[in-house]
Amino acid sequence: ENLQKERRQMTANVAHELRTPLTNIRGYLEAIKDEILPPDKKNISMLYDQTLHLTNLVDDLRILSMVETESLSLELEKGDLGKLIESSVQDFYPRSKISGVKILLDIQNKESMKKILFDRTRMKQIIGNLLENALSYSSKGDEIKIISKKMVNGQYEIKIIDEGLGIPENDLGKIFDEFFRVDKSRSRQTGGAGLGLAIVKKLIIAHKGTVTVESKINQGTTFTINLPLEA
Ligand code: ADP
Repeated sequence: ENLQKERRQMTANVAHELRTPLTNIRGYLEAIKDEILPPDKKNISMLYDQTLHLTNLVDDLRILSMVETESLSLELEKGDLGKLIESSVQDFYPRSKISGVKILLDIQNKESMKKILFDRTRMKQIIGNLLENALSYSSKGDEIKIISKKMVNGQYEIKIIDEGLGIPENDLGKIFDEFFRVDKSRSRQTGGAGLGLAIVKKLIIAHKGTVTVESKINQGTTFTINLPLEA
């Protein structure tokens, strides 16, 4: 019964999330068709953004369903985890410059990180989703720190620390749930559907690792990933 209920809720959420960008696209196209709006660069760019939003949403849903049906198999290859973190961070440098948020990187035990088994694409997605959130919920002058190190128990730890808005204590237990957003209107501005962290958690579990969160409102949030990666 619970599963049925969850599935119905999931379908309702998916329909709701798809409806918003579709309604926007339809509205724009109707206005252009009726010559209320010109088919100019600005309006085409608006339409393009909405389709991009839809594509991201569908991609996220696909990954979630793949992890759930266990049809997502990790492609484990020996690689340099430190380098991967570095390149994930680099992807965000332009955005961090524009928003005035500094990103600091501290990769410890570099040598031992060079040849470990992980799935490049999925690991990039994990770090990318967490960085994306850290940036979205930080403001000008804040700093984001990424610290990674090898622990004494042989596991690898990656911390993503921000000084942003923070998450209310009551919501901390729910933020890894699908479609959960602390503030629906605030998150809608950032374009999120509340799927990013659900994906992060599932991909980390697929790597046999764990992810935890600590946060204080208006002080910041820290996500800690532990990965038992084999050399
Ligand atoms: P979204 O796509 O809305 O960002 P996520 O699953 O990535 O969805 O995150 C779920 C919710 O958790 C977000 O809507 C936001 O309210 C909160 N959240 C996630 N990361 C952070 C962060 N670093 N700082 C503050 N709030 C966060």
